[in-house]
Amino acid sequence: ISQFWNPINTLASFYNSLLTAISYLERIFETIDEPVNVKDAPGAVEMPPIKGEVEFSHVVFSYEPGVRILNDVNFKANVGDSFAIVGPTGAGKSTIVNLISRFYNIDSGKILIDGIDINSVTIKSLRKQMGVMMQDSFIFSGTIMDNIRYGNREASDEDVIRAAKTVCAHDFIMSMENGYQTQVNERGSRLSAGQRQLISFARALLADPKILILDEATSSIDTETELLLQQGLQELLKGRTSFIIAHRLSTIKSSSCIMYIDQGNILEKGTHDELMAKDGYYKELYMSQYAFLEKM
Ligand code: ADP
Repeated sequence: ISQFWNPINTLASFYNSLLTAISYLERIFETIDEPVNVKDAPGAVEMPPIKGEVEFSHVVFSYEPGVRILNDVNFKANVGDSFAIVGPTGAGKSTIVNLISRFYNIDSGKILIDGIDINSVTIKSLRKQMGVMMQDSFIFSGTIMDNIRYGNREASDEDVIRAAKTVCAHDFIMSMENGYQTQVNERGSRLSAGQRQLISFARALLADPKILILDEATSSIDTETELLLQQGLQELLKGRTSFIIAHRLSTIKSSSCIMYIDQGNILEKGTHDELMAKDGYYKELYMSQYAFLEKM
């Protein structure tokens, strides 16, 4: 049980750093090496504007031949649903979210977005409509304003500020000596982990993807920032379908569906209340990890 909240294993974190480099703009996709394992199918068409329904139907997947990672995974997220994915390290959580943006081809089954098989559309047209936020928020050298505007190059200063206000990032930005014009660098050294996340929330809001994939940070964050993150995240999730590899109780409890994964299988699926009533894996996880947090 104690290994639940260990940092993800080395392999997974390698993939996470790869994904960190991926953002909402196709420009970014062109700068990273195209994954060699996926190519557009002959005759692939543009993905139409996404509404946000996501369905896995009998998905079977292995990274290496003969080593099955996902066995017959099935779920359906309706437009606007928020799915929290929980389970032990190595369970297959990152694999599932990576497959949504088609980082690998599946062995069998189908992944459908708005009923369209993602294998039938171009990878570029698919990914540019998705927002992927990994644990380490990506900050580049420049002003905070530029860093947020990165979500949408057309956004005006007013748009950036409005987005920052919506996700609860405005106040901390204004408390810095040069406000939105404050310079930050790649390592985000002037920003706490929580502040970097708030900036990435504002950026994602500007990008406005209908499907949002988020690997929630595990780093400990002070209570005040934690509260802002919770509020900011709830605002960001409105009107989009989201898949969150969730570590925070507040995120998990407010999800429309929690999927408990182990060894590539969805062992339980339901709301917090439904799963607590079941007395199964989720409840055990909750009792061991979170129950005491509620009393705080
Ligand atoms: P989680 O996100 O739940 O920690 P992952 O989806 O990262 O789990 O990993 C699921 C399984 O797939 C693990 O056994 C992991 O070692 C394996 N795995 C992950 N990425 C790769 C890869 N690129 N090549 C081979 N095996 C991998």
